[in-house]
This record gives sequence, structure tokens and C-alpha cells, in this order.
Amino acid sequence: MSKSGISESAIAAFTASERARFIQNNPTSLALAERAKAHLFNGVPMHWMSDWSMPSPLFVQRAKGARFTDVDGHEYIDFCLGDTGTMFGHSPDPVARAIAEQANNGLTTMLPGEDAVVCGELLAERFELPYWQVTANATDANRYVLRWARAITQRKVLLVFDGCYHGTVDDVMVRYRDGKTVHRSGLVGQAYDLSQYSRSIPFNDVAALEAALAQGDVCALMCEPAMTNIGMVLPDPGFMQTCRELTLKYGSLLVIDETHTISTGLGGCTRQWDLKPDFFVVGKPIAGGVPCAVFGVSEPIASAMRDVQKTISEESGGHGHSGMGTTLSANALAMRCMRVSLEEVMTESAYEHMLALASRLAQGFRALFKRHQLNWSVTELGARCEFQFCATPPRTGAQAEAAFHDSLQMALHLYLINRGILITPFHNMTLCCPQTRDADIDRLIAELDNALTTLLALPG
Ligand code: PMP
Repeated sequence: MSKSGISESAIAAFTASERARFIQNNPTSLALAERAKAHLFNGVPMHWMSDWSMPSPLFVQRAKGARFTDVDGHEYIDFCLGDTGTMFGHSPDPVARAIAEQANNGLTTMLPGEDAVVCGELLAERFELPYWQVTANATDANRYVLRWARAITQRKVLLVFDGCYHGTVDDVMVRYRDGKTVHRSGLVGQAYDLSQYSRSIPFNDVAALEAALAQGDVCALMCEPAMTNIGMVLPDPGFMQTCRELTLKYGSLLVIDETHTISTGLGGCTRQWDLKPDFFVVGKPIAGGVPCAVFGVSEPIASAMRDVQKTISEESGGHGHSGMGTTLSANALAMRCMRVSLEEVMTESAYEHMLALASRLAQGFRALFKRHQLNWSVTELGARCEFQFCATPPRTGAQAEAAFHDSLQMALHLYLINRGILITPFHNMTLCCPQTRDADIDRLIAELDNALTTLLALPG
């Protein structure tokens, strides 16, 4: 019996029958998948879209609010919500209207409009940092923040937590193994040794944090205030405050990436826990699902950035390139959508609804696992909720990873998909959006109950 309490042979039998069911029920998706193989690499527009639990990719027809419909006409309750990109529901009405209005008024010009000014004001008010920059996605925001941090501090080493993910930024693709920083497994085409200028340490480990910073070469600690990409790992009480204190003590900057943890509430964990970072990053849902991300900086950091610009401009004679920015960053469509999203979608009342539902879901999971005598833990962070195949919530990325049981996770996800429920792939994360209803939560719990009853009845 595996540590999750479910046997591999039961999972194999269960999975075989769910795969057959998927194939039987999705002829149009299967036909599109076949056709796609001719001109899309691996039959999908981005390679990881074929890594889900389905035997063949599922093709979507339409998505609105908390639901989407596939090309075979099945309706799904969506608890994945684009892995946070649509945490406030698919195509929110104000964003849909904004897209329609902007559609005929210019999509991208390389020049700002009034929306940009309003976005700056709204971001400053909400996230309590005075100055902002806009990028095309959170990966870029983190990449540019890292450039600024290195330039300001004149230090090269980036400090991250083991098991982190901050987008496809090269410098964060490291893990902590036996006291050393090593490459993450699976990297394609890695040309140089990332451990030269990146250092990885375990989350919630104050001694490791101080030792890493005390070397005096760390430009910044880049972190999520709670880890969300290796399963969820919450900080010990006070740990994030210690991150702030120790980075200040050793002259390193603190970058807080709230791209996922913005699920917590209006200003994210940063506002709730009064973290006062040097840089603050948020992407994904900030423009209602239209590609966009932002980073905010404190007053002293903005001043240091101006000094950097002045020096570099003198050195380059004004003919250089900062290594930041892409043509479509801060385009007119994204700015319009971010403005209405901040004004009308990411509101206090939206959060109130989402938080109450996520809490109902977490209670439902706990009661369900207890009933089935499964020692699985459930972690909540605002609208985000995760169950993990371990008895106590993990405190580090390595512990969270040790609780992975991929075959079980994929079997449960596929069972739910076959019954019209989608949860986030690769781990067991759920999000509630403003259109999610109590009845949706109850259906997820009921279907998971059925899945577990079936699995546990199979010969082990
Ligand atoms: N930061 C965090 C914390 C993330 O989870 C992600 C994506 N999952 C990113 C940054 C990157 O976002 P994007 O893929 O939109 O660039």
C-alpha cells in the first residue's frame, strides 16, 4: 500500500476504465486531436497541454463564468480557472465589454493612453507601492525585476525557495539537494550552470535563510508568500516577516510574487501580513484573463532605478538596451482590461463570495477524507484550496513533493473530468470564482466521494 493509502493496482484498474470512458465520450475532441497532430507539435499549441490526465487533449468550445463547454457539448464546472488566469471567472462581463469597445480603437501602439495613468493610480492604492511597470506576463515581470535587483545591488546571486516556480525565468529553475543548489530536472537546452548565480534553500528554514543571505552576495530573495506550485506550503507564523527582516539586515532586496497568492484577498498576502517588499509582482488575473502582469516598487527602489538608468545611459551614450520590455507590453487592450478588472472585477465583494466558497470546499474535503479514513491534508489560502496525500501539511517544497502520488492524482482528475468537473492539473488545487455556487462545491465533493468509494472498493 502506498503512503496515500490507495494501492497502485486499484489505481491502474480505475484509470483504465476512466480512460476508456473518456475516449468513448469525446469523439469530437479526439478527432480534433488527430487533426492537430499534422501541424501542431504533439498535437497541441503549447507542449504542456498534452501533459494533463486525459488520454487525449480536451478541446474547449466556450468558457464563461465558472463554467466551460467542450467541443462534444459537455459542460464543466471549472475549479482550475486557467490556473489563476481567470480566477475572477471566464470572460467577466466588464472585461468582455472593454474588449469590444477597445477592439476598434487600437490594440497596440507602443504609446500609453489615459488607461495607463488610471491603472497606475489603482495599483498604487490597492497594493500600497508608489510606482508600477506593466509587462506581458508574470514570467517577464519576474525577469525584469531580477535585472533591476542585480543592477541596484551590484550583486549577482538570486535566492529562491526549493520547489518554487516564478514562470520560465531561467534563474529560478533550481532545486535544493543535499545542501547544494542544482538544476531542476527536465530543463531543455540548458546552456550554462544556473547554480553560479542562483541559490536554493528550503522554505520555512530560518537558519538556511540567514546563512544564504550572510554570504553578502544575494541581490534579492524572490518568493511567493506561500508556496503554491509544488502543492501548497504555508509559511510558519512570522516566517515571511523574518524574510523581510533578514533581507534588510544583509542588504538584499525582497521580491514578493503574488501571481497565485492574490487569491488571498484584495492586496494579497503582502497587504494582509504587512510585508513591505521592495518589489511586488502580480500577473495572470490582473487584466481579467487578457495577457498582462505588473510589478510595483517602493520609493527608495524607484530612486535607485533612476540612478541605474542615469549611469547606464551615460555609459552607453543613450544607445543601449535595458534587456527589459517586449513590444506588446502595456498594450492598449491590456491596459483597458486591467483598468476595468481592477475597478469592477477584482472587488471586495467578489473576494467575499470566493473566500466563503473556498472555505466550504475545504471543510467538505476534510469531512470526506475523514469519512474514508484517508490521512490527507487540506490547505486553504483565500479562494485557493489544495488537498495533499500526506497526514500533516508540508512545511517545505521537498515535503510537498514527497506527498505527490502522480498516478492517483491523475486518476482522480480524470474521473472528475469525465463527470464535468475540472481541477488544476499536476497537483490538487482548486479555485472558486465569483460565479461558483454552493451547489458546484457540493457536486465536486459528491463526485470525489464516488471516486474514492470506487477506488477503495477495488482489490488492492
Ligand atoms: N509566478 C508564479 C507564482 C506563478 O505561479 C506563475 C505561473 N504559474 C508565474 C509567475 C508565471 O506566470 P506566466 O506563466 O503567466 O508568465
